[in-house]
Amino acid sequence: MSRMLLRHARLIDGSGAAPREAQAVLIEDGRIAAVAADAELAGVEAATAIDLAGRTLLPGFIDCHAHLGAYDYELEARIATPASLTVMRTLPQLRDTLEAGVTTVREAGGLDAGFRLAQEQGLIDSPRLLVSIVILAQTGGIWDIACASGAKLDLAGAMGQVVRYCGGVEAMRQIARELLAAGADLLNIHTTSSLHKHPERLPHAMFTPAEIAAVVEEAHNAGKRVMAHVDGGPGVANAIRAGVDSVDHPYHLSDADIELLLQHRTWLVPTLSCNYGIVRIAERDPHAGIHESSLRAARQLIAIHTEGFTRAVKAGVRFAMGSDSFGRFQGDNLFELQLMVDAGCTPMQAIVAATGDAARCCGLERETGTIAPGKRADLVCVDGDPLADIRILQDRRRLSLVMQDGRCAVDRLRAGPDDGTCAAR
Ligand SMILES: [Zn+2]
Repeated sequence: MSRMLLRHARLIDGSGAAPREAQAVLIEDGRIAAVAADAELAGVEAATAIDLAGRTLLPGFIDCHAHLGAYDYELEARIATPASLTVMRTLPQLRDTLEAGVTTVREAGGLDAGFRLAQEQGLIDSPRLLVSIVILAQTGGIWDIACASGAKLDLAGAMGQVVRYCGGVEAMRQIARELLAAGADLLNIHTTSSLHKHPERLPHAMFTPAEIAAVVEEAHNAGKRVMAHVDGGPGVANAIRAGVDSVDHPYHLSDADIELLLQHRTWLVPTLSCNYGIVRIAERDPHAGIHESSLRAARQLIAIHTEGFTRAVKAGVRFAMGSDSFGRFQGDNLFELQLMVDAGCTPMQAIVAATGDAARCCGLERETGTIAPGKRADLVCVDGDPLADIRILQDRRRLSLVMQDGRCAVDRLRAGPDDGTCAAR
């Protein structure tokens, strides 16, 4: 049995409880065996003991909405990219996300079950993955390029099946079953039109309530969840009423939508970073392929998006962290916590949204999300106090440790051996 003892930590356990000083965490075979005051675990023998004095220990972060396989924005580049190249470009993005402190990701379309298996089998450095495989979208929905000439570009195929266009209750039921059989951990359905095409008007609904309900029924029958990719408008209410488990990035959120979220106890995953991501990428690289109209829409949507989230939090809607990270924005996931605080959350609320509540949103609360006995040893140690300044979580130099299943993905306290185990101290 391998045993590791983390000592002298300031502990934020992810449950929302107040931080506790001088705490020790005992890890056995990749799981948390005990959490107690230092004095209580002082006599425990462990192969590795790590002194975390002056640092804060938190659960590994969970990103409930990211697009880790997305890379290019230019249509031509997407079409020309072989699937193997997409895979190879995705691997460093996965590692980068893990090294940023994100130990679990709920993937919102683009990665298949092979990525999850590769992480589970230790073949790649990656957050633990829940994959939706594709986004279910209606014809004319997200990324569907229909030309006035009648010509149609099957961008879904070009992007390695990021999107599956579909419609009709029975056809969608069948597709949902196929995806679940192919190893989808959840299903992802896009129930509104995209605002990036027409930011000046409210998105219209995509799919009928019956179509959404069929997908939800199939997922729930299989014990899986459904996330709804929404931009706003009547498709938000359709999704909530049909029983989806989370509503992700509604830029427009009406008071009636908020009332429905409360009634159905549906999770809200705001992904406030989404539009900032588009602006940041375009500013960093003018040749990144972000269309001028998308950039304009993103700038326009930031204020509307934030205002809706603030209203939902005040009303008591339960929410979880998602970054909507995509392409060259990977690894900046924890910027979302800063945006949540800027939108009116306390730093503790933002941390819980990205740990304990994120685990609940994903259905992983028995495995991860809090620092408690029995949970996987997914831990992040930061030099300083994130409750005093939430931005320190984005500073890689201050992330002393990132641990996943008890294995160090990052160890800045002392360089460990290359096999990822922490050096004995
Ligand atoms: Zn998304």
